[in-house]
Amino acid sequence: MKRISWIQRSLIVLFTLLLSGFSWASTPDIHWIKISATDKVQRTAIANTGITIEYVGEDHVTGIAKSAELEQLKSRFNVEVNFPMTVEMMDYPSDDSKFHNYDELTTALTTLANENPDIVRMKSIGQSHEGRDILVVRIGEESSDQSALPGVIFMGGHHAREHISVEMPLMLAQYLVREYRAGNDRIVNFVRHRDIHIIPIVNPDGAEHDISGGRYKMWRKNRKNNGDGSFGVDLNRNYGYEWGTGGSSTNKSSDTYMGEEPFSEPESRAIRDYVSEHDNITILLSYHTFSELILYPWGHSYDPIGDNSAYRVHDTMARRMAQWNRYTPQQSSDLYIASGDTTDWSFGRHGIISFTFELDPKNFWQGGFYPGEDKIDVVFNKNIEPALYLIENSENPYGVLQPTHMKFGLQSPLIQ
Ligand SMILES: [Zn+2]
Repeated sequence: MKRISWIQRSLIVLFTLLLSGFSWASTPDIHWIKISATDKVQRTAIANTGITIEYVGEDHVTGIAKSAELEQLKSRFNVEVNFPMTVEMMDYPSDDSKFHNYDELTTALTTLANENPDIVRMKSIGQSHEGRDILVVRIGEESSDQSALPGVIFMGGHHAREHISVEMPLMLAQYLVREYRAGNDRIVNFVRHRDIHIIPIVNPDGAEHDISGGRYKMWRKNRKNNGDGSFGVDLNRNYGYEWGTGGSSTNKSSDTYMGEEPFSEPESRAIRDYVSEHDNITILLSYHTFSELILYPWGHSYDPIGDNSAYRVHDTMARRMAQWNRYTPQQSSDLYIASGDTTDWSFGRHGIISFTFELDPKNFWQGGFYPGEDKIDVVFNKNIEPALYLIENSENPYGVLQPTHMKFGLQSPLIQ
């Protein structure tokens, strides 16, 4: 379906509002706001209020706050309320039919596994609150002992409204199979000598809720019934490493609600158990949107990773990958403190080299969480090479620190 531009949509919204006499009857209780902040300490103070920061600029952040959070914010910070969000401002999911809802995703993964039983196996690693299977596809030649091979894991869809983060790992799985069948030497090599795990959606309940009723809801969390009228735990604040030590909320209605305890949620427990069972995994990438960033631990602390080699591996890989996708590479807490995320746990607990990508677009004005289906291919094309780079280097992540490692150009090999 032909998409209309953001400006066109905004004009339609304005026109609709004029006709309706500025009735905000259909306004959900969320506001797009801008708050002055010039450094990570100020940004952390803002994050600690429990709102979500979605974009970090030099002298401000932008994010989403509920009405109840606005007064508190205004008393402490310089807040500019850009506008209340209306459901009309968001696209209709029918305009975005290229995106996969849960059933379509399940069908796509099942088809991939059924048609390629020699290299793809699919299974459920657990169920969500509402009973949806959390699916993994594992790619590798069946003849090999996969668990003895270098392992790498990709996942998406922790946050409900971040729909492109589901498409990227799905397309990665499809790409690997397609190129293997086509005889692409590099990919054949990966499928033969790597153990590749792909979990496109960690939070299926949230994603289904976000598109239910034909309109996006700007939903972030899972769908746990908190028992007080509110729903949802922020799965990317629920992992059990330095959980609850900053940048997450104990308020159940907050978008960054950390849950009652570490791994209180079936979705985060499924990831915990699956990763823990596969100790050959050396690299993890968790896709999110948006902002165009490559983030690595720590998120819970301003300190860099204590093991200097591990720090340099993250930094080197992040900068290398940024040369392909043009994202900004940095330590997660350089933005603001956020504890209980996937990558602090996977590195802190298991020593896995771990990244979070905040995929396209760059900002809210380019579509934010809902940039339209045309963005899917753009995101994939920018991010396929970083994914292949991680698959390749899962054999020996620390090898990137070797001066002779730079085989992709840009930095000429040093003479030994
Ligand atoms: Zn996210």
